[in-house]
Parts: sequence; C-alpha cells; structure tokens
Amino acid sequence: MEKSCIISKWATGFTLVEIMIVIAIISMIVAIAIPGFMRAREVSRATSCQENLIKIEGAVDSYALENDLTDGAIIAGGWVTLVAKTLYLKQTPKCKGGGDYIKVFTVGIAPSCTYTAPGWFNTRGNLYKHEITEHY
Ligand SMILES: [Zn+2]
Repeated sequence: MEKSCIISKWATGFTLVEIMIVIAIISMIVAIAIPGFMRAREVSRATSCQENLIKIEGAVDSYALENDLTDGAIIAGGWVTLVAKTLYLKQTPKCKGGGDYIKVFTVGIAPSCTYTAPGWFNTRGNLYKHEITEHY
C-alpha cells in the first residue's frame, strides 16, 4: 500500500511552478549565450574581411611592382585585371558582413570596407572594424 502511494505521487507530472522555474533557467542561459554567439560571429566577419583587405592590398602592390606603377596610379580594369587577367587574386573577394570594398584600385592607398557593425556591437569598438589595423 505504501509503495503505490509513492508511485502515484510521482505520476502526477510537473506543477506549474516547476515548469516556470525550468523555463526561467533556460531563458537565462539563452540570454547569456546569444550575445556571445553574436559577438563571435561579428569578430569572425571582421577577421575574414581584414584578411581580404590584406590580400587585395598585396595584389595591388604586386601588380604595381610588375607594371612599374607609382603611388596614386589607378589599376585599369579593376577586378578583371586583378582576378581574371593577372590571377593575383583567385576570386573577387566578398565581405562576409555585406560591405563593399572601396579605394581598392589606387596604388599606395589601403583598401577599406564600407561595413559597420550593428549599433549594439559598437560599444567595444575596434574588435568589429573591417579595416587593416597594422599597415606595413
Ligand atoms: Zn567588410
């Protein structure tokens, strides 16, 4: 008789308070984790974009060296010259954040990206900038 009482106590399921506590704990975990994932995504986009900018600058410098171009010269043909004709770049680079690359084809000027991180990320500044941070 005693055993059946214990079983029936546990067989009734969860109370509303128990379910609400579980939901509250899960939502706290999600609230802590989501900004971290978003931040990691922005950092990875920025890093990828910075790598693209370094590759673009290297391609422009190589082209300028090979064709005796000085600072301020414009590379005629743009991407077609750098990607298809000379193969300094294997493909036209794309910003993962959706930005466009500007000041790309002028020798001696560092290329940059038009992307800006969403407002809530800008509090930490430099982490999310799509630009070459060290220029040699
Ligand atoms: Zn970018």
